Amino acid sequence: MLSEHSQRYIGRFAPSPTGPLHLGSLYAALASYLHAKAQQGKWLLRIDDLDTFRNVPSAAPRIIEALQIYGLHWDDSIFYQSQHLASYHTVINQLLAQNLVYPCRCSRKSLANTPIYPGYCLHRQVETNTAHALRIKTTNITLGFDDEIQGQLIQSVAEQYGDFIVKRKDNIIAYQLAVVIDDYRQNISHIVRGFDLLDSTPKQLFLQQLLGYPTPTYCHVPLIVDQQGNKLSKQAFAQAVSLKNPEKTLYLLLTLLKQNPPVILKSASVPTMIQWAIENWQSQPLKKIRAINEGIH
Ligand code: GLU
Repeated sequence: MLSEHSQRYIGRFAPSPTGPLHLGSLYAALASYLHAKAQQGKWLLRIDDLDTFRNVPSAAPRIIEALQIYGLHWDDSIFYQSQHLASYHTVINQLLAQNLVYPCRCSRKSLANTPIYPGYCLHRQVETNTAHALRIKTTNITLGFDDEIQGQLIQSVAEQYGDFIVKRKDNIIAYQLAVVIDDYRQNISHIVRGFDLLDSTPKQLFLQQLLGYPTPTYCHVPLIVDQQGNKLSKQAFAQAVSLKNPEKTLYLLLTLLKQNPPVILKSASVPTMIQWAIENWQSQPLKKIRAINEGIH
């Protein structure tokens, strides 16, 4: 029912609750919030908690608390993916019925040297009464989009990634599919997120086209890297952002977002800083930047 999908700005922040927010994730959240609010848009919070193996029980409340302390107030109620399992399976069943996916029992080990899936299971009869993944049948069409910050990207999903997984062997809905379903369901018009997800975007475009969903506008902000150039990530045990003295971190983040905050803002409160940042937000200074060193500002 595409007609119900209005044109107004709706953005979102969709963290996976696998650990507390670190500087890099708060940076992306702030950019996404400011981009939405500078355009009088809504900003939604979605907790991407489908991966029960990686979820950390205390992470979601800690993320929520950090967003509140940093003055990033979301609109509407929080959406938890885990509360909508049936809806993902409905789409999976639809894809199965249309013969757009196929079962795959290849082990991760057997694919270790093949970054692009060679289609082993596409042409063989795979037992479906034991654990199996589902892969989408990709086609050789080229998909392009104009990222607001990173510029144009044109790729063929089939050539670049091959048939990718939409449901994992452990029955968990893969991120690529869940994100597309939810961005559609939540009427998301603008996706502002970290550069590390740029590579996922063509797969998401492919799924959107297959399912008849509109494609939102994308905007991939630089990654915050440490002195050695490594991405700050939970896997690399990046430190959780401090909840004490958020003004100091917020000022740093505005600097890393290249917003050029005036020195006088250093002594301002969180709401004042956020208000200034909304009124002065520009994505232009981040153009084509993929990574920013946390120590250089
Ligand atoms: N849940 C994903 C993550 O934390 C991000 C989803 C998205 O922004 O598309 O990496």
